[in-house]
Amino acid sequence: MALFITEECINCDLCVEECPNGAITMGAEIYEINADKCTECVGHYDQPSCIDVCPTECIEVNPKRKETAAQLAEKFEHLQA
Ligand code: SF4
Ligand code: SF4
Repeated sequence: MALFITEECINCDLCVEECPNGAITMGAEIYEINADKCTECVGHYDQPSCIDVCPTECIEVNPKRKETAAQLAEKFEHLQA
């Protein structure tokens, strides 16, 4: 699954530099995750690095973007191409 940012985001910027796929950008009011670029850090790290640094624990799995580990790995390969 890709991840998404909830309204608890305080725009602290910490997650932006942590994302190896450049998937996190500023939205209308808070940061947003581009689900097409989020691999849950598959291909880079063992676990989502944005969740590790978020002080408000406002990054959650996106129930609308259920993807298997194989699909996330395929997305990683596509992003590297
Ligand atoms: S889980 Fe990884 S790839 Fe997805 S938004 Fe967070 S840092 Fe970026
Ligand atoms: S680390 Fe968390 S609170 Fe900070 S900008 Fe990212 S999502 Fe928002």
